[in-house]
Amino acid sequence: MADGDVPELTVTDPYVSTGRLPPSDEIDVMLASAHELYRDITRGEVADYIPVLASVDPELFGACVVSAGGREHSVGDSRHPFSIQSVSKPFVFALVCDALGHRKARELLGVNSTGLPFNSVMAIELNEHRTMNPMVNAGAIATTSLVPGDTAEQKWEFVREGLSRFAGRSLEFDEEVYESEAAANLRNVGIAHLLECYGQLYFDADQSTDVYTRQCSVLVDARDLAVMGATLADGGVNPITGERVIATAHCKRVLAVMATAGLYERSGEWMYEIGLPGKSGVSGGIVTVSPGKGGLGTFSPRLDAAGNSVRGALTTAYLSDRLGLNIYASEPATAG
Ligand code: GLN
Repeated sequence: MADGDVPELTVTDPYVSTGRLPPSDEIDVMLASAHELYRDITRGEVADYIPVLASVDPELFGACVVSAGGREHSVGDSRHPFSIQSVSKPFVFALVCDALGHRKARELLGVNSTGLPFNSVMAIELNEHRTMNPMVNAGAIATTSLVPGDTAEQKWEFVREGLSRFAGRSLEFDEEVYESEAAANLRNVGIAHLLECYGQLYFDADQSTDVYTRQCSVLVDARDLAVMGATLADGGVNPITGERVIATAHCKRVLAVMATAGLYERSGEWMYEIGLPGKSGVSGGIVTVSPGKGGLGTFSPRLDAAGNSVRGALTTAYLSDRLGLNIYASEPATAG
């Protein structure tokens, strides 16, 4: 598949396999009922390995749907700001695909869930934090190291500006979250240096980690995540601003990587229940993309053991089902 000696297809994607979202009033009803159903679920713990994140109000709960046509629907604390954390990963990967081409990005970063053959026993032994794709920290730091720019400052500006174009507004950065993580960041620094040893980091290790940590501290809300997701659902054009953020050809690749590894070791369960590419973050955000239809952003800080927002996952599963978003769903052609 797309090996170096095989010319890349120049297909112009004339056909897509997706439809549209249901009417607005149905989306409003479903969002409200998801919020009602899950707001009393208090399972899970707020993340505390980044010290400042531990002080968040665990009851916060919001969700937003933005259609590929730019319709917006929100419920609860959809405008409460939080640091984007790992939800930045697919978007920075998208920007790097756009800058380098998705083929080069795949070559340098990998897009498999373990990087080892399907039947490897070693993959099981090594899987914890060692998978090589842009959705886990190793691959994400490597992705950030590939961001255009000669200096850390230029790379950071590219990331901040690029994430802002996805969100359709100028995104701020939370200095306190950055300082807090930067002071407790040895694991990521270690990962970056290890990658450097293996020749798989493309910029200075400490500075790459620093830009990555800043990237994780960018402030968003659930509505921003929905707009960012809707941009990936809309062939790379932000449906609110009308601005093209990345080339259409890259969107389906970014979504494929999200589908493979966006929910870490729970990605299989997520796909089984929800059937959509998604990406979670440790501060409680989840972005989910329904190609051609729209983006969904959820925010609620209590996390399950894998670091995924409990209410966010429940809300996403509910909406995927009720709004008919699961990309694997079909019914017999003879059904009606
Ligand atoms: N900044 C966090 C880290 O690198 C992001 C992790 C996450 O959101 N899952 O550890």
